[in-house]
Amino acid sequence: MENFDLGIVGGGPAGYTAAFQARKKGLLVVLFEKDELGGVCLNRGCIPTKTILHSAELFEEMKNSSEFGIEADNLRVDFSKVMAHKDKVVEKLRKNLALSLKNSGTIVKKEFAEILDSHTINAGGEIYHCEKIICAIGSVPADLPSVKFDGKFILSSDDILNLKELPKNIVIAGSGAIGTEWARIFSSFESNVTVVEFAPRLLPNADVEVSKRLERIFKAGKIKYYTSTAVERVEIVDNSGVKVSLSNGEILESDCILLATGRKPANCPKIDGVSYIGDVSGSIQLAHYAIRQALNEVGKVFYDEKLIPSVIYGCPEIAWAGLREQDLEEGSYQKSVFLISALGKSHCDNCTDGFVKILSRQGLIIGAHIVSKEASALIEQLIIAMQNKIPAGKLTETCFAHPTYSEGVFECLCNL
Ligand SMILES: Cc1cc2nc3c(=O)[nH]c(=O)nc-3n(C[C@H](O)[C@H](O)[C@H](O)COP(=O)(O)OP(=O)(O)OC[C@H]3O[C@@H](n4cnc5c(N)ncnc54)[C@H](O)[C@@H]3O)c2cc1C
Repeated sequence: MENFDLGIVGGGPAGYTAAFQARKKGLLVVLFEKDELGGVCLNRGCIPTKTILHSAELFEEMKNSSEFGIEADNLRVDFSKVMAHKDKVVEKLRKNLALSLKNSGTIVKKEFAEILDSHTINAGGEIYHCEKIICAIGSVPADLPSVKFDGKFILSSDDILNLKELPKNIVIAGSGAIGTEWARIFSSFESNVTVVEFAPRLLPNADVEVSKRLERIFKAGKIKYYTSTAVERVEIVDNSGVKVSLSNGEILESDCILLATGRKPANCPKIDGVSYIGDVSGSIQLAHYAIRQALNEVGKVFYDEKLIPSVIYGCPEIAWAGLREQDLEEGSYQKSVFLISALGKSHCDNCTDGFVKILSRQGLIIGAHIVSKEASALIEQLIIAMQNKIPAGKLTETCFAHPTYSEGVFECLCNL
């Protein structure tokens, strides 16, 4: 039997962050990973999707490159190369992570691990005694009660990464982050995309005005969408495609359907004394949330649970944090909206769609919603202000560089 200060099951963002943090404190750490280091984030989530999205955006931009003086003839997508490039990026980051864990002094065991009690792990026929155990085993794609994944025509977000060819037509169930990002990818690659959303609005968790703007973005990108509509049944036709029956009575014919309808925590017994962090905790399913939980669990690093940013990648990006307008009582807040098209930089980049919307109360920012190129970066300055209660007026005393999208945040703050 081997003895450790900390045993971690799961090598995703939650698990490896906990390991790094614990090693900084000098603890003896063993981490178990049954599959690939990096978890869903690195192997089947954040990184592969954003790498493919980059190829899609490059293609989209090059379609209009002539207008900007760049002639590109015979433009076409080689999907197998897109996927091979994605694999290369994932492989490289996986190697970097393995090396960082090794350099940190974490003992990594590539084994399926079972937590027996709050101090004991069984893996590969060995018993490990750990003073403390963290379970960070993540989540798995969830199908619908009436529609099950088959890996070929009815696809999960894992399956879609194994596609060999671009579908001509694809139905995407769900318009959350995963559904929206894939809709943008496939439409840029010129597949016919139809998104079916059960809620009354696209991106149901976003501020209402953000959802409305996404409708406009989808229309401009020729992405068809339904709201307040459920996927009720999927029939596989002639082993070559699907018929998707919707709750409004319509039937969509498509090459395949992606179910982007949510994920569920990985199955495991809950044992007293064991800490459950990341997606398995059943809370917000985001890599940066998993990382914050790990930092808090091991290093007691404070973060504000109410200020976890949400980001939807693609062009333009969408990001928000804090309260949404529909959460607030009329007359109880101030609001400022600034259009991105008023910024010089947005015209330089030919990316004029979007807005910065800031909600405040008694001079303090309580919510920020951004649709803009670089929204993922812009949101952070407002989160820093919200978490540290920096008054909006104080922020405007800062010098914002020109020409930048940050000037949109500045102008928006000035009008509060
Ligand atoms: C398509 C997609 C896109 C996404 N994009 C983003 C994004 O842009 N930004 C963002 O913040 N989040 C994104 N996410 C979510 C993000 O990937 C997850 O929130 C994050 O990976 C959760 O980290 P985790 O460490 O909790 O779990 P995971 O990353 O799931 O890692 C858990 C690990 O535990 C291992 N494991 C499970 N059981 C055992 C066992 N018994 N023994 C040993 N090992 C075990 C698994 O193999 C896995 O490697 C995306 C997810 C998907 C599916």
